[in-house]
Amino acid sequence: MKQRPTFPARIDSSVSAAKPKAPMAINLPQGLGMDSVAVRQRMVQKLASQGLSDPRVLAAMGRVERHRFVDSALVNQAYEDTSLPIGLGQTISKPGVVSRMIELLCQSTEGKLGRVLEIGTGCGYQAAVLSEVATEVYSIERLRGLHDKARENLRFLRLANLHLLLGDGMLGYAQGAPYAAIIAAAGGDALPTAWTDQLAVGGRLVAPVAQRASGAVGGVTAQALVVVDKTSQGLRQTILEAVHFVPLKSGLA
Ligand code: SAH
Repeated sequence: MKQRPTFPARIDSSVSAAKPKAPMAINLPQGLGMDSVAVRQRMVQKLASQGLSDPRVLAAMGRVERHRFVDSALVNQAYEDTSLPIGLGQTISKPGVVSRMIELLCQSTEGKLGRVLEIGTGCGYQAAVLSEVATEVYSIERLRGLHDKARENLRFLRLANLHLLLGDGMLGYAQGAPYAAIIAAAGGDALPTAWTDQLAVGGRLVAPVAQRASGAVGGVTAQALVVVDKTSQGLRQTILEAVHFVPLKSGLA
């Protein structure tokens, strides 16, 4: 006998929960001239063609509206793979670099990342992307002007798992430790020991660090992306491609 459908129909909550989030409401400033979902999808396709493959990161990059984090005069460039000024001499990182670093953080984890520490909130864009792939995000900024700006930019998103902190990120944030992942958006001469101390065993840190070219007379010449994995045997460091980040500075301003 054919099973008759029961009424009212049962909604399978696990299925509805797995549905992708609806795109956020968009209210584009005049000038972008295009639907922001479509422009963002084009950016994501470009990132994928350049080698980004983690579906969690691709989805997050497709969801976070980068144009909301830049000044209105720069909205037209928001989805280009370029860094842009955000005030006080700082820049929002290129989407290609943001997604590359977050993909590196996610590499050894299935599902969501656990607690993440971000050093250098800036305008808050990368923090918003992180909050999509992690259960909890602590993001520290040393410049009050940018900390306030990020708070303002992020208000409409109401991200309950994102905590913005004003402080010196070189000290990390011990209250949230240990972290499954630590990511720095500013580069120093060396990795502060607080970061590796606050990393969980099994956790990963990704940061730009200045590299001394062999043969250069004492001069720091370039930055490279550095990955540090904390294992039960200790720290394992891998140096990757050259990058260009603003300097990591100590103290508040
Ligand atoms: N992730 C940011 C990028 C901002 S640029 C974004 O999406 O916009 C890097 C930021 O690091 C700058 O805002 C700079 O002020 C900040 N920074 C530099 N040294 C720092 C430190 N010791 N602690 C916290 N923030 C720092």
